[in-house]
Amino acid sequence: MPSNIPVQLPNGYLEFFSSLESWQNEQQIKLQANMQLAQVVEEPLRKIAKHRRPLITITGLEIDPERYRQLLADLLVFLIEQRPDIAASLEAIQQQLSSFDYALLITRLIEQDMKYLQELARSLKISPQLFIFVLDHAIRPFLRIYAAQYQADIFEYTYQNWDLPTICPICGSKSHFSRLRAEDGRRFMFCDRCFTEWETRYLECVHCGNDEPGKINYISVENDASNQLYICEKCRGYLKTYDERPSGMPTDLFLANIQTIYLDLLAEEKGYSNHNDDWIAQ
Ligand SMILES: [Zn+2]
Ligand SMILES: [Zn+2]
Repeated sequence: MPSNIPVQLPNGYLEFFSSLESWQNEQQIKLQANMQLAQVVEEPLRKIAKHRRPLITITGLEIDPERYRQLLADLLVFLIEQRPDIAASLEAIQQQLSSFDYALLITRLIEQDMKYLQELARSLKISPQLFIFVLDHAIRPFLRIYAAQYQADIFEYTYQNWDLPTICPICGSKSHFSRLRAEDGRRFMFCDRCFTEWETRYLECVHCGNDEPGKINYISVENDASNQLYICEKCRGYLKTYDERPSGMPTDLFLANIQTIYLDLLAEEKGYSNHNDDWIAQ
């Protein structure tokens, strides 16, 4: 279906996220050498199925507050260099670094207690959106180390054990992106927070479970067969998807999600929602 939505992102937008991802990868490698992880939990699929909760809320994750503080401070230096246009706002967070209760912040981030974080930002007169972005991106390398231990177990057949397909079974973050595997077209959801992938049914709405024939359709834009929107006529939900089959190639799913913001705009223009607000409000 042709569209007039411009596919051009603001200058430097994608490059910024690409640098951020590389920076986080480097931090993850450094942390990995030093981080003491609790014993790996056996049979994670059985655990999440039994509790119907993301694994991290069952096992907990111990993060050394001092290591998190250091990573947050380093991230702010990196961001100020990358984004001089918002340096003043980032410096306002920097000035508060010595006042935070890091153990509490880590707990709230793991619980994804957005309300707490928003209120804290407001009390410090910092934009809640920026505050959460910075704090959450600083915890991601830790989450990715934790998640990496379980990814092989979680990768396939999760849908038989997990009936919340838009929620990451490891860290509990909401996913807005999936891929269809080149070799067999099976669908895997992707978590851009901890990099876990989990299988979900190919033709079933991830928001409401609708699988009625004809009630799930897909839209792609001209000259791009790989990036698609799956839309559900029952709940008016949408899911962005990278289909590996046209190119036969995998892609960086973290960047593909950002690169396809035009698909979010297109979906919203057509009256579909990724139901993100439902999740934030929880
Ligand atoms: Zn996750
Ligand atoms: Zn639906």
